[in-house]
Amino acid sequence: MGSKTYIVEHLDDELGPWSELEYVTIAKESHQAGAKFCLSSVPSTLVLPAVLKHVPGFIADERSVEALYADDKTRVCLLDPSAMKELSPDDGDIFDVFLFGGILGDDPPRDRTSELRKKGFEGRRLGPKQMTTDTAVRVTRLVVQEKIPLDKISYVDHPELRINKNESTEMPFRYVKGENGESIMPEGMLDLIKKDSEKGFGDLF
Ligand code: SAM
Repeated sequence: MGSKTYIVEHLDDELGPWSELEYVTIAKESHQAGAKFCLSSVPSTLVLPAVLKHVPGFIADERSVEALYADDKTRVCLLDPSAMKELSPDDGDIFDVFLFGGILGDDPPRDRTSELRKKGFEGRRLGPKQMTTDTAVRVTRLVVQEKIPLDKISYVDHPELRINKNESTEMPFRYVKGENGESIMPEGMLDLIKKDSEKGFGDLF
């Protein structure tokens, strides 16, 4: 099957700094991998950050994924933490569009992916642990484009990040392990986490 499209359906009213860093990373990595990235359901009132709009290949659409693929639903695979089947390399031959919830992670997870599940797309799970949206797209790309099975990918679960010399914070998510052994995160995310954790995370993830 030809090139892949990764769609993140934006489900929040706003687009905060965490989402911005995640979406910029997804846009850059998709472009480098020869895939398309579309942010769907973007309200016309939402001003997208210039850094995101300027990533080559980035597409924003006001329409929801349902409208975009109304006649072509079978091409779309929803990445769904509650799906019964795990994503496998063969799914790259069945689907060419992979759909993700544009939701920040939360602990415990609130299952907002259900908003997309209700629309009737076929679902696949990426293992039992909650991932950030950029991690979920990265893992999907490794499976369907690089054909690496889910259980052959190296992960870091719940990494402990050092905020300053006295404090650290545990991220309640699964990440892909980079070559340096550290979890792969969007550029600038560590600084944002440090800044926000000084204020108290509150509702952030
Ligand atoms: N707690 C969230 C919820 O309310 O569903 C999970 C949001 S997660 C940060 C953002 C998106 O990444 C999800 O909507 C889903 O598309 C994808 N995702 C994250 N972890 C996943 C997993 N283990 N399996 C499948 N998809 C996953």
